[in-house]
Amino acid sequence: MPPAAHPLTAPLLAGNRRALAQAITLAESTRPEHEAQAQTLLAEVAGQANQTVRVGLTGVPGVGKSTFVEALGVQLADAGHRVAVLAVDPSSARTGGSIMGDKTRMPRLTVHPNAFIRPSPTGGTLGGVARRTREALLLCEAAGYGVILVETVGVGQSETQVAAMTDLFVLLTLPNAGDELQGIKRGIMELADVCVVNKADTDPKAANRAQAELAAALSLLTPHSAVWHPRVVQASALTGAGVDSVWEAVQAYTSTVDLPAKRRTQTAAWFDELLREVAWRTFLQQADGAALARLRAEVLAGKLTPVQGVRMLRSPATAPE
Ligand code: GDP
Repeated sequence: MPPAAHPLTAPLLAGNRRALAQAITLAESTRPEHEAQAQTLLAEVAGQANQTVRVGLTGVPGVGKSTFVEALGVQLADAGHRVAVLAVDPSSARTGGSIMGDKTRMPRLTVHPNAFIRPSPTGGTLGGVARRTREALLLCEAAGYGVILVETVGVGQSETQVAAMTDLFVLLTLPNAGDELQGIKRGIMELADVCVVNKADTDPKAANRAQAELAAALSLLTPHSAVWHPRVVQASALTGAGVDSVWEAVQAYTSTVDLPAKRRTQTAAWFDELLREVAWRTFLQQADGAALARLRAEVLAGKLTPVQGVRMLRSPATAPE
């Protein structure tokens, strides 16, 4: 007889929003019994999602991320897509709130029947917040949400984590690209599959210039895909102009790149990351703390190289050569 399904499995797969919210709360819980239940649920619904697209979004605070997510989200939801909006905001651990916490930032999307908005999980490390967002993403897909928008706070910490859980990464920039480019870390530029010059309505000439400059800057970076070259488009999240061209770029990307292969690579990397975490925790539990402190002191005193110190910890009988 197969084991009984988790009570949330059926309503979640039927697209019930309450069940989805409860499932995410379960996955966010740090209580061990909840974690076990959440993993059962995730295993039961795994592989149910078919044609979904996971879009990561970033940009410096004030660039217009919330406004853009609302504009794109409403456009897609009006067209019949079911849209979920998630966030990775490690700072919410400190403030107790989150960039997405204030639902008035996306007033139309919040009340749209085809949309589901979930604030960033609070508490924990960036790794913990990212893991819970990743699980929330899978639960949204299981509930039938076909477009998942994952927003970051854009302060240079969470971008890599969001790029590792999404199909493509959208970087929002401003028309004054000259100044703006200096504020964007090169590493973040390298993650971008689509760049959007937002607020193009404020200065169309500057927006044209920014588009050309960004395209030139991106062409100098080492491409992270053999088949896709990052696109730069203009938009105004406020008026809605150009938002459809961003969606066109997303669709061009998803029809060009082998998404199942990309997702398998991401899952493998996630598994390896968890493995490293578990191995590290197990190691620390079993390690001789005093010996560890002694070796560290000897390394810092220059008596051992770091490599020798670590080797000796693994096999204390081995004296340094
Ligand atoms: P976030 O911090 O990146 O989430 O930025 P917000 O979405 O909160 O936007 C910051 C400010 O820029 C708000 O006052 C928005 O109304 C404004 N804004 C956003 N997009 C545009 C745009 O395309 N054009 C103009 N003129 N203003 C915009």
